[in-house]
Amino acid sequence: MNHLDAFRQDTRAWLEANCPEGVRGPGQVAWGSRRIELEPDVRLWLARMAEKGWTVPTWPKAYGGAELDKAEYQVLISELKRIRARTPLTGRGVNYIGPTLLEYGNEEQKARWLPGIARGEGGWAMGYSEPGAGSDLASLSTRAVRDGDRFIINGRKIWTSDAMDCDYIFVLVRTNPDAPKHQGISLILVDMHQPGVQVRPIRLLSGASPFNETLFEDAIAPASDLVGGIDNGWTVGKRLLQFERSTHAGINISGAQGGRTAESRLPQIVKRYAPLANGAIADPELRTWLIRVEQNGHAQRLTQKRVIEEVQARAPGFASSAVKLTNALQVQDSHELILAAMGSQGIGWEGAAFSPDEIEATRTWLRDKSLTIAGGTKDIQRNIIAKRVLGLPD
Ligand SMILES: Cc1cc2nc3c(=O)[nH]c(=O)nc-3n(C[C@H](O)[C@H](O)[C@H](O)COP(=O)(O)OP(=O)(O)OC[C@H]3O[C@@H](n4cnc5c(N)ncnc54)[C@H](O)[C@@H]3O)c2cc1C
Repeated sequence: MNHLDAFRQDTRAWLEANCPEGVRGPGQVAWGSRRIELEPDVRLWLARMAEKGWTVPTWPKAYGGAELDKAEYQVLISELKRIRARTPLTGRGVNYIGPTLLEYGNEEQKARWLPGIARGEGGWAMGYSEPGAGSDLASLSTRAVRDGDRFIINGRKIWTSDAMDCDYIFVLVRTNPDAPKHQGISLILVDMHQPGVQVRPIRLLSGASPFNETLFEDAIAPASDLVGGIDNGWTVGKRLLQFERSTHAGINISGAQGGRTAESRLPQIVKRYAPLANGAIADPELRTWLIRVEQNGHAQRLTQKRVIEEVQARAPGFASSAVKLTNALQVQDSHELILAAMGSQGIGWEGAAFSPDEIEATRTWLRDKSLTIAGGTKDIQRNIIAKRVLGLPD
C-alpha cells in the first residue's frame, strides 16, 4: 500500500471513531468566538480536530497544524466530505489573520497567536473600512500613535461584521500621516475586551444586526502586536485581503474546509416551486435559465478545483479576485432563478401566507446581494483583474 492509501485508511478510521454524529450534516460551526456557546458535539469535534492539528491541516506543527502536504490535505477533505462532517473551525482567525501571520508575523508573534487561533480560542473581527474609506481603503484615518511599548488608537471603523461577538480585531491604522497615503499605514492586533473599544450595532432592513461601528477611543495595543513592521500595513493588509477573497471564492487552502459540498441542489429547489409538465419544468425560459446556471456552477467548481491544484503558496494571488467575482455573480444568479420559479411566493418577508422555506429564500436572495460588495466590490475586482491578471494599462 502506498503512503497516500495508508494515510486515507488511517484518516477514515480516525474520523469514524472521533467525528461525533451531531456534526455530520448542516448545523452550528465554531468560528472561535469566546462569546458564543458551542453545542457539546461541536465543542468536542473542535477539541479533537485541534488536538490532531486538523483545524489548520497545512500549517506547521509548531503552530497547531499537522503539516499535511497538498495530496494528504485533499485526502483529508474528501474523507470529511464522505461522512458529511462539518468543518471543525472557520472564521477570520484561521482564514484571514492566521495565514497572514504565517507570512508576515515574526517568530514571537507566530508562537503567541497561531496555536490559539488553531484551537479556536477567540473570534476575530476585521477593522478595515471607515466611513470615508471603503474601496479607497488607503484613505483611512484611524490613528495609532506610539507611546513607549504600546500604541494608542483613536478612530472609527464601520461595517465590522460580527464585532459584537469578537474577542480580537486586526486593524489597519495610520501611523505616519506625513507619508504618502499608501505608505503611512500599519496593521495592528487589538484586544476588544477593553474600555477603549466600543461596538455599536447597525440595524439592517432585515432587522438583523451582523454589522457594527467599532469605535477606538484611546484603545491600547502592545507595540509587539504590530504585524509586518511599521508603515508596512498596505502590503500586509493587501495580502490579508487576498486570503479574504480566496475564502469568499472557496479556494483558500490554508485553513479548514471540511464539509464543503460540491453538489448543486438547485434543480430540486426550482422543481419544488415551478409548475411542472410530465415531471419536467413547464416554462421553457426557466428550463434554459436553470441549465445556464447549472453549467456556470459546474464551470465555477472546476475552476476552483484547478486553482487550488495549481497554487504553490497557501492562497492564490490575483486569480482569487476572478473566482470571487464569478462565484458571487453565480450565487446571485441562482437566487434570482429560485425567486422567479417561486412567483408571488417569492416576495414573502413574514406572515402566515408564506412557508419558512419561502421566507428564507427571499431573505437569502436579498442578503446575498452583499456578495458583490463584501471583500471588495465587483467593480474593484474587475479593476484588479484588468490590471493584475490581464495586464491592461491604468
Ligand atoms: C456583507 C458585508 C460584510 C462586510 N464586512 C466588513 C468587515 O468585517 N470589515 C470591514 O472592514 N469592512 C467590511 N465590509 C465593508 C466592505 O469592505 C465595503 O463595503 C466595500 O469595500 C465597499 O466600500 P464602501 O461601502 O465604502 O463603498 P464605496 O467604496 O463608497 O463604493 C461605492 C460604489 O462606487 C464604486 N467604486 C468605488 N471606487 C471605484 C473605482 N475605483 N472603480 C470603479 N468603481 C468604484 C463601488 O464599486 C461601489 O459600487 C463589509 C461589507 C459587506 C457588504
